[in-house]
Amino acid sequence: MAKGILCPKCSSDKSMVVDSRGTADNSIRRRRLCGACGGRFTSYEIVVGEGVEMAAQELKTQADTVEKEMSKLLEHIRRSVRSILPNQ
Ligand SMILES: [Zn+2]
Repeated sequence: MAKGILCPKCSSDKSMVVDSRGTADNSIRRRRLCGACGGRFTSYEIVVGEGVEMAAQELKTQADTVEKEMSKLLEHIRRSVRSILPNQ
């Protein structure tokens, strides 16, 4: 279970993946079912790895730092995508 994916309805992290598929741009789309409130939502996970290492080298910093900033960015993206999607 990936950490950091919270239910948009009740903020529980006890969600189960009910369906997942890769997309053309190297991200993974997952349908999730919340174990706490039964709500369904979709998450997008971007496959990182090499990109993080390269960015860290380029910026002369740690991969951790890059990952931290990246998760902030992803959270921001999640929030704005949620705000434009109809409730599911
Ligand atoms: Zn929930």
